Parts: sequence; C-alpha cells; structure tokens
Amino acid sequence: MLDKIVIANRGEIALRILRACRELGIKTVAVYSQADIDLMHVKLADESVCIGPPEPAKSYLNIPAILSAAEVTDAMAIHPGYGFLSESADFAEQVESSGFVFIGPPAAAIRLMGDKVSAKKAMRKAGVPCVPGPDKVLGDNADKNLALAREIGYPVILKAAAGGGGRGMRVIHAEGALMNAIQLVRTEAKAAFGDSGIYMEKFLEKPRHIEFQVLADGHGNVIHLGERDCSMQRKHQKVVEEAPAPGITEEQRRDMGVKVCEACRQIGYRGAGTFEFLYDEGCFYFIEMNTRVQVEHPVTEMVTGVDIVHQQMRVAAGEKLGISQGDIGLNGHAIECRINAENPKNFHPSPGAIERSHFPGGPGIRVDSHLYDGYRVPPFYDSLIGKLIAHGPDRNSAMKRMQNALDEMFITGIDTNLALHRQIIDDSAFAAGGLDIHYLERKHPHYNL
Ligand code: ADP
Repeated sequence: MLDKIVIANRGEIALRILRACRELGIKTVAVYSQADIDLMHVKLADESVCIGPPEPAKSYLNIPAILSAAEVTDAMAIHPGYGFLSESADFAEQVESSGFVFIGPPAAAIRLMGDKVSAKKAMRKAGVPCVPGPDKVLGDNADKNLALAREIGYPVILKAAAGGGGRGMRVIHAEGALMNAIQLVRTEAKAAFGDSGIYMEKFLEKPRHIEFQVLADGHGNVIHLGERDCSMQRKHQKVVEEAPAPGITEEQRRDMGVKVCEACRQIGYRGAGTFEFLYDEGCFYFIEMNTRVQVEHPVTEMVTGVDIVHQQMRVAAGEKLGISQGDIGLNGHAIECRINAENPKNFHPSPGAIERSHFPGGPGIRVDSHLYDGYRVPPFYDSLIGKLIAHGPDRNSAMKRMQNALDEMFITGIDTNLALHRQIIDDSAFAAGGLDIHYLERKHPHYNL
C-alpha cells in the first residue's frame, strides 16, 4: 500500500482525502497556498508545505511546486482531488516520470477523455450511445456547417472540445444565428481553454443529467456503482444530486452499466471515473467522462457502501479491486446539497469569516465540510464550502432527513445558498422526482443571472 500521500487540493475534498488516508494508515502531506494555512486538513496533516501565493496558477496549479513538495517530504503518491490539476494529463505524466504514483487514471486515458471530441469518438466506437452530431471538430467551410446544422436539426449546441466547468457552450435555435455563434464560441474556447476546436451536436431541450460511477483496477476488472441524477443545475453547474436516479429501472442500470464498463476496458481505464449522460425520453446520450473523483461521489458511497476514495488509492497502488459487480447492491436513497458561500440573490461569492455555525447530524446525515467557527473563507477559490448528504431507506425518508438537516443547519458571518436548498427540498415537483436540467432556471428565472 502507499505509505505517504501528497494531497494536491484544498477545502472539503482535501479533508475527505485526508480522512481516507487516516483510515488506511497512510501518512499525509498537505500542500497549501499562502491564503490557506488555516484549512482544517492543513492542521490535521502529518506534514504541510506552502506551495505559493493565493492565485491558483501560482500554487494549486503549480506543477513544479507540488512535485518539489512531494520530493522534500519523501512522499510516494499524489492525490489530485477534483478541479485544479485532477484532469491534467501533463500533470499525471510528470508525477509518474518524477517517480511518484498518480492517484488517477493513466495519462493517456485522461488525454483521450479530456478532449470531448476524441472522447465521443472513442465512446461511439465502444458502443456507448452519444448525442447526435459528428465526432469531429467543425471546419471553416460555412456551407458545410450550415448543412450540418440542418441535418442535425435545430436547436443545436456548439461546444468547446477542450471545454469544462459549464463554459464554452452556446445554443442556436435558428439558422440566422449560426455563423456568428461559431465565431463567438471559437473565440471563447481559445481564450478560456487555449484551443479553438469546437463541435456541434443536437441540443436536447428537456433532458435529465444522469451519470454512472465506475471503478477499474487496470487488471481488467471494472465495476459500476450505479447512477446519480444531477439535473438540479444552475448555469450548467450542479446544485443538488441524488442516487439512484428516480425512475431508472434495474434493467436500464444493468444495460448502461455493462456499456460503461466495456468502454473502460477499451480505453485502458484505471481508477474512479464518471460517464455523464443526458437522458431524454428513455434514452441515454453520452456527453463527457470525468476522469477523477467527483464532488457528488458521497451519494453513491451512501447507497453502495463502497468508499470511492479508498478504492482510488488501492488501485493506484496496483491492487486488484476487492469487490465484484455481484457485491454491489443499492441500499436506499441519498441526496446531496452543495453548500456554497454565495449571495442568495446575485450568486456572487461571499467570502469572509464564519462567525457561528451548526452542522446537523442524526441517522443518515453526513457532512463533508472543512468549515469551523472562526475560519475565514478566502476569496480566491470556488465557493463550495461543504456538502450536506442525507441517506434513508427510500427517497421520501432521505428527503425528510434532508429537510430536517437543512432546518437545523446555520452558518453566520457569510452568505450561503442554504435557503435555496430549503426551497428545492420543499418543492413538490422535486419531491415527485425526474425533473429536467432546466427546471431550476425555469422556476426561478433570476437563477440564470
Ligand atoms: P462541462 O464539461 O463544461 O461540464 P458538459 O458537456 O458536461 O460540459 O455539459 C454541461 C451541461 O451543459 C450539461 O449537464 C447540460 O446541462 C448542458 N449540455 C451539454 N450538452 C448538451 C446538449 N447536447 N443538449 C442539452 N444540454 C447540454
């Protein structure tokens, strides 16, 4: 097993990884920016190394600084968490060539799936259903592009091949807007991702977002842990997630599970990963693969009892998966609310000091958060400050537990989106289940700010 790990991340996920390391008897090294010395996991880690100033580019994205920290602490492996360098094939390569273990998939798999066009091509080849539209970047020929959009049928969506984080996308409803939009998205893609490659696909108007969690050990063993529904979104960003997805049958789960596991074998995948789909009128359409642990992984852990972060470390150490598909059952239902430090009206980040807080508990409640009273949320990073997860024997009881937990919870000193979560959980349409990805923004038009 790995004896010492550098946690190359911050916030709640860094603490989540640290907890897993402690359970497995692995020593931890926290790397942190000058703005982050007060982070909970920095206090708890066996060792800690400051890797630079607050700006992410100079700290959490600074590959040489992270590798140096691993060297000086004589660590064996690096866990990238999510965001930051977690999906950088270059980082994975440099970690390995410097003699450390990268706790994630092989660099080649990250590279293949990091380009959405090559990912789509590989998935089609592996028999995974994709959104209608070519698995090629758009050329410059205006007539061909117009013809392609006509063939796919409006509305179409233009997406950056190297895109992520819900950016670099535009929906086109009529032919007159297409040429201009192509120029715009190309320019945006180049500016945001350094790559002007864009592609076109059918825009599905009322789909749900359903994703499958996989684990692969690099020895040919691949299992899936069922699906999550992440349709509650604002600006293409997930707000509430749940597992399993309401209304998905055992047969659909088995069928898609077999497909995603086979795709993992074909691309030589190892580690934890997520296949994201849009789900429309009973059909799944692949949109992208996340080659890392995801923010919403706890809902899957609650219903399967599998610790995804433990498994990541075990397979990175070269072990075989100790569990087979037959061992995986779904026990009850779990829901997660992403708690953000943000203004509830304009959604701007709300950094500052936590004055007082209370985190709920009781049966089926899990809180993954690095907050503590007096902690100051710095203004430099993502506004996610924690996740509240409720598990119950069925969806109704999980919702009830979430409702109680949200009523109990408070955080003062900064603004949060707790009130928004209370509204969602009290919403009768959410209670019915199966809402589409635009529901939140339709119901609350100002969410689209
Ligand atoms: P990112 O990597 O930026 O998260 P994704 O490809 O995963 O981008 O898409 C993010 C979100 O954008 C989806 O969850 C969905 O809300 C919307 N989206 C993407 N592609 C389509 C599509 N073809 N039709 C409708 N909505 C889409």
